Amino acid sequence: MRCVVVGAGPAGLYFAYLLKRARPDAEIRIVEQNSADATFGFGVVFSDRALEFLREDDPETFDHITPHMEIWDDLTLDHGGERISLDGIGFAAIGRLELLKLLQERLLSVGLAAEFETVVASVDDLGQADLIVGADGVNSIVRAGHEAEFGTTVSTLTNKFIWYGTTRRFDTLSHAFRRNDHGSFNAHHYRYAPGRSTFIVETDNETWQRAGMAGMNEAETMAYCARVFAHELDGHPLISNKSAWRNFPKIWNRRWWVGNQVLLGDALRTAHFSIGSGTRLAMEDAIALAAALVDCTDDVSAALEVYEARRRPVVEKLVAAANESASWYERFAEHMALEPWEFAISYARRSGRLSDDRLARLAPKFMAGYQARQVAGR
Ligand SMILES: Cc1cc2nc3c(=O)[nH]c(=O)nc-3n(C[C@H](O)[C@H](O)[C@H](O)COP(=O)(O)OP(=O)(O)OC[C@H]3O[C@@H](n4cnc5c(N)ncnc54)[C@H](O)[C@@H]3O)c2cc1C
Repeated sequence: MRCVVVGAGPAGLYFAYLLKRARPDAEIRIVEQNSADATFGFGVVFSDRALEFLREDDPETFDHITPHMEIWDDLTLDHGGERISLDGIGFAAIGRLELLKLLQERLLSVGLAAEFETVVASVDDLGQADLIVGADGVNSIVRAGHEAEFGTTVSTLTNKFIWYGTTRRFDTLSHAFRRNDHGSFNAHHYRYAPGRSTFIVETDNETWQRAGMAGMNEAETMAYCARVFAHELDGHPLISNKSAWRNFPKIWNRRWWVGNQVLLGDALRTAHFSIGSGTRLAMEDAIALAAALVDCTDDVSAALEVYEARRRPVVEKLVAAANESASWYERFAEHMALEPWEFAISYARRSGRLSDDRLARLAPKFMAGYQARQVAGR
C-alpha cells in the first residue's frame, strides 16, 4: 500500500508509526511544512488518565514519552480572592516540541522519517497513492480540496486568546480570573517541563477592543498581559513564540473521508483547549485509522468506513463536551459575578459531562467543601 501523510503533528507522526509498525511492507511518505524543531505554542496537558490510552497496545511509546512528562493531581481556580482546589482529576503535561521529537524518534524506530520543510500546495501535487491522510491541522489543505464533499463547517468563537509560556513553575493546572478597567481576563497556566509553563491568556472581544489590543505590537501586548497577571507571574517573564491573539476555530466535517482521502486530528475537528484533549484525540484518531487499515487489509474504502464508524460516537461525545466548555468560557465574564464557590461549581459542571454524584467520586474534597458551604447557607 502507498500512503501519503500530510502533516507531522501528533496525528500524522503517530499514525505513520503505527501503520509502519503493523504493516512493514507499506510505503509511507510523511510531508511536513515546518522544520523538525519548529512548532507553535508551548506545553500541552493531558487530562484524566494521561497517556493510559496507549499503554496497553503501545507500551514502548508510553514508556518513551511518560518519563518526560510533568505529572500532578489537582486543578486550582483563582477567583474573587479565593483559591479553590478541584482534587483528584489527574494531569500530565509535556512540551509540544518535546512530544513531537519523541514521536519522531518512534517513527525512526520503524525506519521512517518525515520530509520536513516541504509545503504541500495542493493534494494534486502528491502523485499516485492508495491513501492520502490529511493530518495537517486546522488549516488542512486536504480538507480544503473537498470542502463540499467533506461537509466542512468552520465557526469562530468570539473570545480572543494568546498562547504564551513563562519560566514560573505552577504546582497545579490553574485558572486565574481577573478584572481591570478594560474588562475581564482569564489565564490557563500549568508547568510542562522544569522551569517552563504554558500561560494562555483569554479575554472577551469587548474587553479586547477597550484595551486597544488591535493597535499594540508584540512587546506591548506581552507587557499588558504581564501587568494583568503580575500576581500569578510573580516576577517571571512571559515568553512569546510568535504569539498573537487568535479566535478559536470550531471545525467539524459531516464526512470523514472522500475517495482515498481521509481526515484525522484537528483537520477533522477541533476540541476547545479548555478540556485539554486535542492532542489525545488526534493520537486516538491515529490509533483507530491504523487499526482499521490493518483489519481491512488492502481494502482502503472498507477501512475508512470502519475508521469512521468506530470512532465517530466517541468523538461526537467529546466534541459536544468541548463545545459546552467553550460556551462557558465565552461567557466567563458573566460567571465572574458569582461568588467563588458558586463560580467553582459552575466551572466544574461546565462541560455537562459530570453529574454531582460523579463529581463527588472524582473530586471528593471539592464537593465536600461545596456542600458544606451550601448547608451553612453561604
Ligand atoms: C491555545 C491552545 C492550547 C492547546 N492546549 C492543548 C492541551 O493542553 N492539550 C491538548 O491535548 N491539546 C491542546 N491543544 C490542541 C492541540 O494543539 C491540537 O489538538 C493538536 O496539535 C492536533 O494535532 P494534529 O496533529 O491534528 O495537528 P497539528 O498539531 O496542528 O499538526 C498539523 C501539522 O501539519 C502541518 N501542515 C499543515 N499544513 C501543511 C501543508 N500544507 N503542507 C505540509 N505540512 C502542513 C503543520 O505544520 C503541522 O505540523 C491546544 C490548542 C490550542 C490552540
